[in-house]
Amino acid sequence: GKDEGQMDLQAIVDDIASMMAPRLGEGRVADYIPELANIDPRQFGLAVTTVDGQTFHSGDATTAFSVQSISKVFMLTLALGKAGESIWKRVGREPSGSAFNSIVQLEHEHGIPRNPFINAGAIVITDMVLAGHKPREAIGEFLRFIRFLADDESITIDEKVARSEQATGFRNFALANFMRSFGNLEHPADLVLGTYFHQCALAMSCVQLSRAGLFLANRGTNPLTGFSVVSPKRARRINALMLTCGHYDGSGDFAYHVGLPGKSGVGGGILAIAPGKASIAVWSPGLNKVGNSALGSEALEMLAIRTGWSVFGN
Ligand code: GLN
Repeated sequence: GKDEGQMDLQAIVDDIASMMAPRLGEGRVADYIPELANIDPRQFGLAVTTVDGQTFHSGDATTAFSVQSISKVFMLTLALGKAGESIWKRVGREPSGSAFNSIVQLEHEHGIPRNPFINAGAIVITDMVLAGHKPREAIGEFLRFIRFLADDESITIDEKVARSEQATGFRNFALANFMRSFGNLEHPADLVLGTYFHQCALAMSCVQLSRAGLFLANRGTNPLTGFSVVSPKRARRINALMLTCGHYDGSGDFAYHVGLPGKSGVGGGILAIAPGKASIAVWSPGLNKVGNSALGSEALEMLAIRTGWSVFGN
């Protein structure tokens, strides 16, 4: 078998980055806002932070990118901390089988989104975190939480990306107002979405993201700081949601090929968790048909094969 102690993770991440080098630019960059459409697609970064606190990275792993939907994992963690299991009265835990921004299922299920990782579900989660706060305070709390998780005060939110989402996010406004009509949104759509667009506009590098996700690989405790973020049981449950719902209607395919809990974003990033082993972040802006990083998904499959990491046995 593969002994973690003997595995040369630096050689593995370097190998994967060099295999991706001739393919940079594959896929299609998200183009719904100019700030994402103008990103150079010829970039690839990979970072692995192990539960003993070492980071191995290669390629553009220190370049900050728009984490977009990956932020939904961290906002869910905050909401669970505030409201506990009561959040499940307002959002489900089933894969959607539809696109990330789909509205179709909401009417049949009375404004209760399928899961916290599609847009509708994430908007409800943000509404919960907003309770008792102004959007500015909720955004501040979110950013402080991320900096605490990554143990990095330099992380910021890209205001230009947030503003441009605000100006063009008509479908998110439709989702929010539709849920409000069913009584599943406590705050006006513009307040919730003002917060949601800022959380999506969080800018992080693969190195920072792999560190921020490390608590999920280490039974809820961040080994870099020693702080307990969530209980071991909650870490397992967040991982379960990432495995089943983290890649929209590509979640089954990601589980089949990579075999790890993961969450993707339209910025081309993916956070993947190897429980008990490591937190992994990959970024390459070109997306595949279901809106997940094309090279990023393949790189994670290579990494899973090379390391033997899988939640399904090795
Ligand atoms: N901000 C994007 C949106 O709400 C995030 C979507 C994503 O990363 N899939 O449309």
